Amino acid sequence: MVDGVEGLEPRLRLVVEGELQLCCQRCLGGMAWPVKVDSSLQPVRSGQQIPEEELEDDEVDAIELDGELDVLALVEDEILLALPIAPRHQVCDAPQPEGGVSKESPFAALASLRGSHSAN
Ligand SMILES: [Zn+2]
Repeated sequence: MVDGVEGLEPRLRLVVEGELQLCCQRCLGGMAWPVKVDSSLQPVRSGQQIPEEELEDDEVDAIELDGELDVLALVEDEILLALPIAPRHQVCDAPQPEGGVSKESPFAALASLRGSHSAN
């Protein structure tokens, strides 16, 4: 253990950009979701204590590392962490219930006004 070498720790910067197709949790339709991950990671040997200041620093995450780094798994984890728990379109309608249980709803009236082709 060497003290007094702040700023000399190895850091890993992970940047991921792209676009994913997520399933909207309201209308179940597809929605494009831009991925933007930019993380700083500090490699730590497994079993080694993570320095307390790293735990308090939101900018840096510690990752346990033994031997080779599984880059794919790391990228996957970071993307999963960045994903919204319940992705939703900003504006969309929930799907109509199957079987025409709905009584005359204002939306159904609107739809018939529009002459939409509901083939039931
Ligand atoms: Zn939606």
